[in-house]
Amino acid sequence: MLEHAQVGTDQDILPCPVCAAPAFRPVWDRFRGGTDDVAVTCSGCGLVRRARRRNEAGDTNEFYTGRYRTEYFAQDKRDFARLVERAAPYQEIRLDRLGSLISNGVRILEIGCGPGYFLAAARARGTIVSGVELDTDQARFGAAYYGITIATEPIEEDRLVAGSSDIVCLFQVLEHCADPLRFLAHVRRLIAPGGRLVVEVPDLNNPLVSLYAVDAFKRFWFQRPHELYFGRQTLEDVLVRAGFAAVEVRSFQEMGLVNHMNWMMTGEPMRDRAAALATGLPLDPAAADPAMFPTIDTVFREADACYRRTLESHGYGDIVMGVFTPQREAPAAPSSPAAWTIR
Ligand SMILES: [Zn+2]
Repeated sequence: MLEHAQVGTDQDILPCPVCAAPAFRPVWDRFRGGTDDVAVTCSGCGLVRRARRRNEAGDTNEFYTGRYRTEYFAQDKRDFARLVERAAPYQEIRLDRLGSLISNGVRILEIGCGPGYFLAAARARGTIVSGVELDTDQARFGAAYYGITIATEPIEEDRLVAGSSDIVCLFQVLEHCADPLRFLAHVRRLIAPGGRLVVEVPDLNNPLVSLYAVDAFKRFWFQRPHELYFGRQTLEDVLVRAGFAAVEVRSFQEMGLVNHMNWMMTGEPMRDRAAALATGLPLDPAAADPAMFPTIDTVFREADACYRRTLESHGYGDIVMGVFTPQREAPAAPSSPAAWTIR
């Protein structure tokens, strides 16, 4: 357990952006890239967040206009055409998870859409799509490559038409928000009556974090751009405070058995996302005995499927996906810390 003194006093650290409680408990202090950041659990609402210091620069939107991509991603993430090609199969999985929400003529807006690969896949299923992406290079690429309309202004400027989307998607976005309630208030405005908000975030109940506690993975997983670290319950709690009701919130295990074994044995990420998501043997079939390889590869695939199912059925996963519906009444202002019991 970390000492409170390592983080600073309640006076140095901003209060919880969700429940406004000033008190917290430090839980992790080794972040990707060796920053001096600390993750803390809010004593008021239980949300895990990066402890933001009072003297930190405030504008996070500026960071996402380009620096986030160049500082936090490997070289090939700047090769958008390759990124699009690699990400394409995964978008079908996302769409399948959304089930009957995806149907002809539904208007989908994705905020933080990158080069637009999810939107392109959604459009192929008959939906009407548009996006928002602060990184102008990615937005420009998506517009040219897919012909999708992608706005580059922050939604906080309220330039998009209120109530103009049936489904608003936030994939791997909300964890970046320093002020999630304010952000969600602007998101809420965009959803048509009867519409839905879909939120996908990294899951704090990732087995490598919470089941096996692999330190090397945690040093990779906790990263400065992620202000918030959600589990299913805290994601739902934040959305409820922002004026939404949960339709369904579930954990999914994306990375496979081989990826987990790799982390445990080498302490390193796999070479790319495709390898980490793979379900079969991490070997070149051409280099193996052709008579035996398919058989043993099948054993691996069955083991992988069983492994993921077992984790998910026990509430573990590396992402949380939630579907929410805006409530008719706008949310009340955040509670004062006095209204919350400090655990
Ligand atoms: Zn809180």
